[in-house]
Amino acid sequence: MDIKNNMTSKKTVLITGSTSGIGKAIAERFAAQGYQLILNGIEPNAAELSEELAVRYQAEYLFSGADMRDPSAIRGMVEAGIERFGTIDILVANAGIQYVSPIENFPDEKWDAILAINLSAAFHLAKAVWPGMKKNGFGRIIHMASAHGLTASAYKSAYVASKHGLIGLTKALALEGAGHNITVNAVCPGYVHTPIVENQIADQMKAHQMSREEIIEKVMLAKQAVKEFVSIDLIVDVVMMLADEKASTLTGVALPVDGGWTAA
Ligand code: NAD
Repeated sequence: MDIKNNMTSKKTVLITGSTSGIGKAIAERFAAQGYQLILNGIEPNAAELSEELAVRYQAEYLFSGADMRDPSAIRGMVEAGIERFGTIDILVANAGIQYVSPIENFPDEKWDAILAINLSAAFHLAKAVWPGMKKNGFGRIIHMASAHGLTASAYKSAYVASKHGLIGLTKALALEGAGHNITVNAVCPGYVHTPIVENQIADQMKAHQMSREEIIEKVMLAKQAVKEFVSIDLIVDVVMMLADEKASTLTGVALPVDGGWTAA
């Protein structure tokens, strides 16, 4: 093991769900800072979006269309990344989906997909990158949880369960990573205006029988003491802080970035 060499060479970051919203902004920041990237997403044009991003920042990259519902695809993506770059230093498990519905009508397949993508994928990802991080004596794992990992809202049973579970996983892995310089933390955003939120507005309108404006004001931002969407830039800043080499004793936290929502 050559920790010194690893510390001075270019680092590699794997970001799931990096073709949209928060994940894309995280990928852009790492690219701008000269990291090697493993990019992932499932939109039909995900490969092109990733190439465009990498070319824009002249970043070395690998794209994987691995579906986070498929553990063998997750392992394949990690193996391909290690083959290409030698190591994965930072993992940002960011891919996530949402579905809003009262429990009586909540489709079973949505429950299964949400648990698989938002929670089980993080387990399979961590398990796959762990041996390399342990060998290198360096690892930063960042889980994109949610304020809904700390508190609940009606009609989001699967999402709330998955994000609470993700914070439990974060804490358990933080204990396992201690002593190996592997930190594991969760970021818990409040509402950030991305496609996942835009899509929710329509579902929430149905579930609550309210207009678009009412949903934004009375359902979404009503819970945030600071009555603004959280900026994507702030979420990226927090991720970069957690990914820093110096942050070796910052581990096992679920950090709210939620405009005071969970302070209440
Ligand atoms: P988004 O919908 O803009 O992006 C989601 C990303 O996940 C996309 O890149 C998509 O390709 C990817 N993805 C979806 N299903 C996938 C699958 N099966 N396999 C691989 N990739 C898949 O959403 P976002 O707002 O950027 O959310 C990113 C993360 O932040 C999610 O985990 C979400 O729960 C969390 N979050 C978002 C908010 C918010 O207000 N936007 C708040 C709290 C937490």
